[in-house]
Amino acid sequence: MSIKVQELSKLYGKQKALDNISFEINQGEVVGFLGPNGAGKSTMMKIITGFIPQSSGLVEVNGLNIEEYSLEVRRKIGYLPEHNPLYLEMYVKEYLDHVASIYKLGKAKKSRIAEMIDLTGLVLEQNKKIGALSKGYRQRVGIAQALIHDPKVVILDEPTTGLDPNQLVEIRNLIQEIGKQKTVMLSTHIMQEVEACCERALIINKGNLVADKKIENLSSELSSKMIEVEFANEISLNILNQHEGIKEVISLGDNKFSISSSDDIRKEIFQMAVKNNWELLEMKSQTQRLEDLFHQLTVNNDQ
Ligand code: ADP
Repeated sequence: MSIKVQELSKLYGKQKALDNISFEINQGEVVGFLGPNGAGKSTMMKIITGFIPQSSGLVEVNGLNIEEYSLEVRRKIGYLPEHNPLYLEMYVKEYLDHVASIYKLGKAKKSRIAEMIDLTGLVLEQNKKIGALSKGYRQRVGIAQALIHDPKVVILDEPTTGLDPNQLVEIRNLIQEIGKQKTVMLSTHIMQEVEACCERALIINKGNLVADKKIENLSSELSSKMIEVEFANEISLNILNQHEGIKEVISLGDNKFSISSSDDIRKEIFQMAVKNNWELLEMKSQTQRLEDLFHQLTVNNDQ
């Protein structure tokens, strides 16, 4: 596998930012790393990339222990840190040349820089100062520097934060492209991004791993089912709420309701409608999404 994290903890003074976390990421997988602010995402990414040491536990990248083989691991990892630190006074091409020199790319340097400029769509911007670029283009420069040494594993810490909707789609497409060839770990606040780009989601909350799920299995694993119903006549929310098995009823207006329950209760709703002479116009399952799981695991747990 590409990344192995075992019983990892990190203390900042007395604060436990990561608490005994274990997971594995296989070669070629694209994994979304989710969690509310302060959950410990950046801390985890900084440890995996060898920027800061863990307090206890083990991290291996491509089978190499990051503490023993720090330099070798860094050669295999591409990292886009949060806030994408760049030299604003440097020109795009000059900066990539500088990063390529650090990785000692030698003869391959020139062609590699050209490849990265091409891949990240920076052809027209390559001779501009980084400080003159928009946020979306700066992110492309950040991604280009993360990939310049052709790493096997790529760690992207919130690569799309602060982008406008068009830039967001462009960077997301770029991540999908990268994911075809490399192992990617991506932290983000945007659930649709994980659904669009990732095969798996790891969710952390307050330093603990609370979910490790394949995206395709999510809806079947969620603990509540949701249906949407519409009636022709007026129905009181209270009557619906009284039914055993219903967890929550939300009125959507115009006699439409969203009903969440622990089991599939479509049959019961139908029988209730017949018994009470309610004119049922429509009943459909609502697909539950990563957003619901995230909410269940990181908000409800606080209560
Ligand atoms: P996330 O990336 O999920 O927002 P972080 O990993 O940045 O979370 O932070 C996790 C927790 O650790 C937060 O409570 C944060 O304040 C704390 N923390 C992060 N870096 C440091 C640091 N260098 N010194 C002290 N506390 C830190």
